[in-house]
Amino acid sequence: MLSAFIGNGRTVGWLTRAIAVAQVSHAYLITGPDQIGKRTLALGFAQAIQCEGRAAGEGAACGVCLACRKVAHGNHPDVLTLAVPKDRQHYLIDQVREIIDSISLKPTEGQRRIIIVPDFELMTLPGLQASLKVLEEPPATAMILLTCASVDLLLPTIISRCQLAPLTPVAPAELAAALVGRYDCAPELARALAIVSGGCPGWAIDALDHPEALEERRALLHELAALTRATRAERVTAAGKLAPNKESAQRVIDLWLPWWRDVALTAYGAPEIIRHADERASIEAQARAWGPAAADRFVRALLVAAEQLDQNANPRLVFEVLLQSLPGL
Ligand SMILES: [Zn+2]
Repeated sequence: MLSAFIGNGRTVGWLTRAIAVAQVSHAYLITGPDQIGKRTLALGFAQAIQCEGRAAGEGAACGVCLACRKVAHGNHPDVLTLAVPKDRQHYLIDQVREIIDSISLKPTEGQRRIIIVPDFELMTLPGLQASLKVLEEPPATAMILLTCASVDLLLPTIISRCQLAPLTPVAPAELAAALVGRYDCAPELARALAIVSGGCPGWAIDALDHPEALEERRALLHELAALTRATRAERVTAAGKLAPNKESAQRVIDLWLPWWRDVALTAYGAPEIIRHADERASIEAQARAWGPAAADRFVRALLVAAEQLDQNANPRLVFEVLLQSLPGL
């Protein structure tokens, strides 16, 4: 429910008012770092729109009517969420075509037909071209909710067709209070999680189940940062250690990708939306040392490595190549 959304009161309030005054747009783009709540917000917004228990002039979902419960359980026929197939890195064009066909149908139960497309940057060019047409001339009863880490990752033609709903990291005090109040978390742990999560509630909530992940993550990130000072030969050795198998290799990439995105964002002059706010000093130092082009190149190298691992390339070889493109040599 939108009323339970942690942080970003301005954006949440703006969306709630749009429903209350019945001035909802046909396309929204929700942006923000990983695990900030982009998908949660999209679903909460969809729920409030479909809610049957909401009085006229109100913007908040009742949370108890059949429509609200169906959206919450992911089985409302007029709220569809697209997902990248498990064995792929991108959306398939066939998925986009299906969605385009589906969005032109009349809503069966709800007010509108709502399509949620998370991580819209994972759309390929043909997918983008097809979606552009729908964004340009959407059916009157349709609504598209896109999410993306940053508007920098999308074409201006996409951005200009959407209302922007930006989400920024939640202040540590606000996030800690929510963890204590709603998840029964001890105040001290809540404060630590609020900071280490970089203000991303999703990360903090996940970490409630794995408190040891905190320390482990910090240690590995520092080890990885130190690799920029390593020689070519040392990097080859490190590849064997970091990527003895596919799982370890993927874990390192999962950890490293948001870190280097932060370095790139900081180097591009957008440090306020970084994920690792607790490591701001290290990230700023790296951003200054390597600059936007090198950081961006390495983010791309990480994405290529992730794709190669998915295609079952040898993890050690993938990492040998990856580490040679790590800045510092
Ligand atoms: Zn309801």
